[in-house]
Amino acid sequence: MPQKRILTGDRPTGKLHLGHYIGSHRHRLALQDQYECFFLVADLHMLTTKNTKEDILAIADNARAIVLDQLAIGIDPAKVTFYLQSAVHEIYELQLLLSGLVTVERLQQLPTIKDMADAAGLEQIPYNLLGYPVLQSADILMPRAHLVPVGKDNESHVELSRQIARRFNNAYGEVFPLPEPFVVGGTLVGTDGQAKMSKSLDNAIFLSDDAATVRRRVFSMYTDPNRISADVPGNVVGNPVFQYHDYFNPNQAEVEDLKERYRAGRVGDVEVKEKLAIALNNFLDPIRERRAHYESQTGYVDELLYEGTLAARQEGQATLSEVKKAMGLTGVWNRVSRGAEKRRKRNP
Ligand code: ATP
Ligand code: MG
Repeated sequence: MPQKRILTGDRPTGKLHLGHYIGSHRHRLALQDQYECFFLVADLHMLTTKNTKEDILAIADNARAIVLDQLAIGIDPAKVTFYLQSAVHEIYELQLLLSGLVTVERLQQLPTIKDMADAAGLEQIPYNLLGYPVLQSADILMPRAHLVPVGKDNESHVELSRQIARRFNNAYGEVFPLPEPFVVGGTLVGTDGQAKMSKSLDNAIFLSDDAATVRRRVFSMYTDPNRISADVPGNVVGNPVFQYHDYFNPNQAEVEDLKERYRAGRVGDVEVKEKLAIALNNFLDPIRERRAHYESQTGYVDELLYEGTLAARQEGQATLSEVKKAMGLTGVWNRVSRGAEKRRKRNP
């Protein structure tokens, strides 16, 4: 039996940070061996909230950065098709053909759309933002994906794509497997301890940060504000330094010991942070090595994205051809062209 497929992606709005790794990319590492992987660089999705000429100019560099970040964490280019959404025209076509299978009310009821509009500071909802889950359905159904790893917030969109697939199959014939959401997660708080790590909040540690930067960022991290000296018992729960230790320090005994002494007021922030900086840099070192390896091959990332995009187009053409056949659109065109051909033969 051929391998089942997964589809997932990233908006090319910047490089990846530890929050992306925890919320999403570490799960891709675990899935890449069991599934055929389609990893989208979702620049059309970016246009729903960021569409100035400047934003668009930045896509190419951000797309490269995102692909390189993924190779650096150990995503295997032989197992994954990376592709640029805006260069796969079949996705646009499929979106239009699917858009008759969903109502405006259904889209308006999704809380995510309103949230995205609010987050982007938009007072009114543009048509492409309302249609964003339909485009996402086209992304998912284009490679006929079975599984879609998403954060909890996007689960409802995969449910929608499943509904669209079911409606299509019922109305026109079986073309699509019904995609299933695979809810992955984990949220990483920012170094400020105030909000989740976000590249736009200046509270991020990037996968591409060097050791000195990581150390500096760790030492400026927010900890327990009530702890004015090392002998004051401190709070471990909700303390970002310990959340990072839990995620990134593989030495559990060390982490437990630090927590115990922190609660008892027997360790200073400096030691806790020193050990975190070491753990994070140990985590990032192999990532840095792989990055250097891929970076030394000039043009490699572009080539990978280019080849992947061509492969995705082929995939898209195959799906669209099935879709149009099932809907009867191919038949319409065939009749028109046969009629035209006959006339040409009669009147050469
Ligand atoms: P921006 O500051 O522009 O909002 P961001 O750094 O928050 O950017 P997004 O593009 O909003 O990144 O995030 C893309 C996806 O990455 C999210 O849907 C989520 O799945 C995951 N993600 C981002 N930040 C985190 C985080 N701190 N913890 C866990 N997952 C995250
Ligand atoms: Mg965000």
